[in-house]
Amino acid sequence: MSAEVKSVNNHILPHGELDGFIRKLSKKMKVVAPVAKEAGNFAFQEVSGASEIALKYVPTVLPPKKYFMPQREKMLDFDLTGAQPSDKAVIDAPELAVFGAHTCDLAGIQCLNMVFSERPRDYNYLLRKEKIFLIGMECNDYCDENASCALVNSHMPSGGYDLFFTDLGDRFMVHVNTQKAEEIVEEMGLAKASPADLAALDKVRERKRSVFRNEIGVDPRKLPEAFAKGEKSKVWEDLGARCVSCGNCTNVCPTCYCFDMADNVDLNMKTGSRNRTWDSCQFETFASVAGGENFREARSERQRHRYYRKFKYPLDKFYRFFCTGCGRCTRTCMARINLKETLKGLAKETV
Ligand code: SF4
Ligand code: SF4
Repeated sequence: MSAEVKSVNNHILPHGELDGFIRKLSKKMKVVAPVAKEAGNFAFQEVSGASEIALKYVPTVLPPKKYFMPQREKMLDFDLTGAQPSDKAVIDAPELAVFGAHTCDLAGIQCLNMVFSERPRDYNYLLRKEKIFLIGMECNDYCDENASCALVNSHMPSGGYDLFFTDLGDRFMVHVNTQKAEEIVEEMGLAKASPADLAALDKVRERKRSVFRNEIGVDPRKLPEAFAKGEKSKVWEDLGARCVSCGNCTNVCPTCYCFDMADNVDLNMKTGSRNRTWDSCQFETFASVAGGENFREARSERQRHRYYRKFKYPLDKFYRFFCTGCGRCTRTCMARINLKETLKGLAKETV
C-alpha cells in the first residue's frame, strides 16, 4: 500500500493533546478506560481526563466485554394483572466510548460479535454494541508471562474497532476504521499522518514482531490435531484434580459468553422481570438437567470442555480460536492452572 493511501486513514495525536481529546469525547458520551488499581491490577472504569488512564497495563481484571454483555441484565418486564398477560422488552444501551482496549480484547469482542449475530440474533448485545465507540490501544511491549497472544495471532491489530492508537513515543498514530470515527477525528481536528509518521509506525511494528513470539513453542497449526486426538489425554485428569470449580477463569475470559436466565417475581406474584446473569461451564450444576442427570459431573470433563470451547468447537464453526491469549484465566486461577502449560502438555502427548 502506498504511503499516500495509508495516510488517508491514519492521523496523529501528540501526547500532550490526549487529555483534550478525552475531555472533548467525554462531553459527547461517557468514556471508560483502563485505570490502575491496588496490587498491580487494572480495571476499565469511567474517566474524564488522560491523567486517570493507564496507557501501559497488563490486561484488566475483567475485559471490556462487561460493557457489551453486562454481568446482570434485565431482558423484559412482565405483567399478569390485566385480562391479557403482557411483557415489554428492556434494552439498556447507553452511548459509551471504550478507550484503550488491547488487541486481545478487540479479538474477544470480534468473537462475541460472531456468536451474538447468529440467528436467532441477540438484540440486547447487538444494539448495545452499536452504541459503543471502541478505541483500541496497541501493546508495544510484551505484557507478562501469562499471555499467549502471539500464539493465536491476536497481538497485532486486525480490525474490530472504530479508532486504534499506537504510541510512537511522543505522539499517537490514530487509525480510523469507521465513519463514526472519521467524523470524530474531523471534529477533533487531528492532522493527517506524514510519511515520516508512517515510517515510525513500521518501525514500531518491526520491533514488536521481534518481541512477541509464539509463547508455547508449538505450531498453532498443530493445535487442531492435538485437540482432535486429545479427548482422553491425562492433562484433563490433572486439571480436574486441581480445579475447585470457582468459575473465575470463565468470568474473566473475553470470549466466554454463557449466561443463565431467571425470572424475578414480585410479592404480588403477578409482575416481575426476566434477567440474565453470567454463568460458568465450570460450575457443577451447569450441565445438570431434569431427572438428575449431569452431563459433565466430573471436574476433569468440565475443564476439558472449557479448552475445547476455546480451541476446537469454535474453530469448526467460526474458523477461529476463541482464545485471544490474554492470559486472564491463568492470572486469576487459585489452583494455578496455566493455559500455556496445559496446551504444551496436550501437544507433547498428542502431536
Ligand atoms: S479459575 Fe481455576 S480453579 Fe477456578 S474454575 Fe477456573 S480452572 Fe478451576
Ligand atoms: S482462555 Fe484464558 S487466555 Fe484465552 S482468551 Fe480466555 S481468559 Fe484469555
